[in-house]
Amino acid sequence: MADRTRRERLLTFLLLPAVVVAVLVLLGVTIRNSLQLEKLREKSIVEATYVLASDNADRLEQRIIEQDNAVRVSVRVEAREDFGNVWLSSSAQQTPTVRAVLLLDLSSRDRPVVAFASRGLQLEDERFRRLLVNTLLSDMELNQAPRSQLRHLHGTYQGHDYLISYWQRDYQRRRYLLVAWHSVPLIVHKLFASLYSNRDPQSRVNVVDSEGRIVYGQPLSRGGVTLGRSFQTTLYKWHLNATIISAEALGEALASRQKLEALMVAVSLLVVIAGLIVVVVAVARERRLSNLKSDFVSNVSHELKTPLSSVRMFGELLQSGRVDSDAKRRQYLEIINHESERLSALIENVLDFARAERGKAAYEFAERSLAEVVERATGVCRSRAGDTLIEMRVPADLPLVRIDEHAIEVATTNLIDNALKYAPDGKTVVVALRATRKTVEICVTDEGPGIPRDDRKRIFDRFVRGRAATEKHVRGSGIGLALVKQIAEAHGGRTWVEPAATGGSTFVLAVKVGTRARKAGRQNV
Ligand code: ADP
Repeated sequence: MADRTRRERLLTFLLLPAVVVAVLVLLGVTIRNSLQLEKLREKSIVEATYVLASDNADRLEQRIIEQDNAVRVSVRVEAREDFGNVWLSSSAQQTPTVRAVLLLDLSSRDRPVVAFASRGLQLEDERFRRLLVNTLLSDMELNQAPRSQLRHLHGTYQGHDYLISYWQRDYQRRRYLLVAWHSVPLIVHKLFASLYSNRDPQSRVNVVDSEGRIVYGQPLSRGGVTLGRSFQTTLYKWHLNATIISAEALGEALASRQKLEALMVAVSLLVVIAGLIVVVVAVARERRLSNLKSDFVSNVSHELKTPLSSVRMFGELLQSGRVDSDAKRRQYLEIINHESERLSALIENVLDFARAERGKAAYEFAERSLAEVVERATGVCRSRAGDTLIEMRVPADLPLVRIDEHAIEVATTNLIDNALKYAPDGKTVVVALRATRKTVEICVTDEGPGIPRDDRKRIFDRFVRGRAATEKHVRGSGIGLALVKQIAEAHGGRTWVEPAATGGSTFVLAVKVGTRARKAGRQNV
């Protein structure tokens, strides 16, 4: 038995930390998974945003290069006289952002413009022609092979943005440079607008220059993921930024889901902790009760054994015929009588208590005078009171109450017996009845040691023995007051103890006046 208890205790002590560790591990795994998911989400948003930025930049460059190729097909070095006429005739549809095409003779020392075709104003053309010869030429990669390859020059000159497409041709042993002048404002207003405005409501793009100034579009939100990429071959000084709006919304939804998850985890943790506390308290209570029960068994055995030994000893003495005086014989018989009464009272108490515990106590309620019942119990107790005086105080005009006579007699006997047991040096025990507005109360007052404050409530619990019993080794079983409490409650009343003016204690059993005592006749509680 002790081994089993030790094993159970060990199991509890191992199990509780194991549950705590398991919950913490579960918590850790959940949080780690959630963080990994978040990282994956971020990674996929970053990738999607980068693909969006690249796609948009590539599409723009493709459009510019398509125009350059159209120009390359329509302008010819061979036909210098009508240079650019073919291009001009179809320029508006095929090359909407190309403003002018030029031919330069690179074999001449000052590299003059030898042919020119333009869709713009003459004044601006003249300015561009000078800029090209004086400045732009020196910034071009004219000596890099292959020379016939299409190249681009992008930059800000004299406060204006320029995009030049150029390539070289050798003709009749001379080297020529062909230039297509793109209008940057047209690229912004026509190409950017047609490619980037409202194509996809889930995404937004803008284009910034090398100083970070927006040249197209609106500032992008700072909340979501914004990624950018430079244009690689044409407008290479500029940068295209993109953001995915749905990703922002997704991020917000995820953030609120994460909050909810964190809340759920916290609530589950609280529930587990509360559960563990309940289990620990229940186990402790169960263990205390089991200790009390085993104390009870040993107390009751002791209680039974002592009077039984006396009965047996004096019985044997009388049977042996060695007791010659009548007075002695009478004394022995009185002892046997007294001890058997104690035995039956104890056994009756245990049986009544067990019945009530099992919910099988049968009460027979009837309208009775409480004074008569209490007087009867007092009379029985007087026979074993020795030198102590049991005084009864009954006021006149007490109302009748619905009670079970036997149960009230048992309860009163228990209270008076306790008074005699725990106040052995007292001279008087007072049994008084008093009526209040709703109850009639039986009050048993002794001149004993009184009850310590922290004992006053718990002594009414089953199997609990108070300090008065344990300190002075007074015999008992710890069920007397529990039985009184059960009886009081069955009568719709209650019981308690209060310090008495005599220094001892007053135990009160209150029975409700006019209580229908649940149902007339016999009933179980
Ligand atoms: P038992 O008397 O068998 O121990 P009870 O349930 O009758 O069990 O009483 C519970 C405890 O209450 C006792 O152990 C004792 O400590 C305390 N007690 C009861 N009546 C008195 C009293 N009149 N004076 C002092 N202590 C008392």
